[in-house]
Amino acid sequence: MNEFLPQGWGTQGARGIVFVVAGPSGAGKSSVIEGVLARNQGLHFSVSATTRRPRPGEVHGRDYYFVSENQFEEMIRRGELLEWTTYQGLRYGTPKAELQRPLREQRDVLVNVEVQGALALKRAELKHPVVLIFLVPPSWDSLLERIQARGTESPRTVKERLAIAQQEVQYIPEFQYLVVNDVLEEAVRRVEAIMLAERARLIPLESGPS
Ligand code: 5GP
Repeated sequence: MNEFLPQGWGTQGARGIVFVVAGPSGAGKSSVIEGVLARNQGLHFSVSATTRRPRPGEVHGRDYYFVSENQFEEMIRRGELLEWTTYQGLRYGTPKAELQRPLREQRDVLVNVEVQGALALKRAELKHPVVLIFLVPPSWDSLLERIQARGTESPRTVKERLAIAQQEVQYIPEFQYLVVNDVLEEAVRRVEAIMLAERARLIPLESGPS
């Protein structure tokens, strides 16, 4: 708390902030998030639960909690998930603990979800600010290239992911920020700039986040 601040006022940085990075598959969410995490040690990455199989290099507990369909159902039943969705027949969900634990310690959280998950987190009425960032590649051509370059998708799932992307971009106006991921390093810096600005945002303490 800064001594120049009038009573009853603070900055958002004094509490934990949830930064949600959403956008179509192939926009580069994972790479941008990895870059931001590498340069910001105190940040917590929210590890989602999924029924998808690990891709080469993915680690249980770091990239995702890889669970069975039954385990996922059990997590829903026990009320452990804040939001969840079915994406291409697979389940993805944000565990409540992934946000609650760091936020309690005033640590900011970075979340990687699809667009409906981002909107659900905004609606969840957490006692902490939720900042929605929409990440896009520079063009549709580059989106297609990136999905194909991953090499893990079949032609059918590539087509499906493009169709989903067309739906997703319609929700851009519901977000607070748009970041174009042209050069990865620059996209990382843009997300960091948003984080700095949001931490400096003045808020009346009694009414909580807007
Ligand atoms: P992928 O299989 O490529 O890792 O993820 C597929 C999509 O699911 C991506 O758009 C990713 O952001 C999204 N996703 C990952 N975890 C979650 C989650 O916990 N909730 C929601 N709603 N979407 C998620």
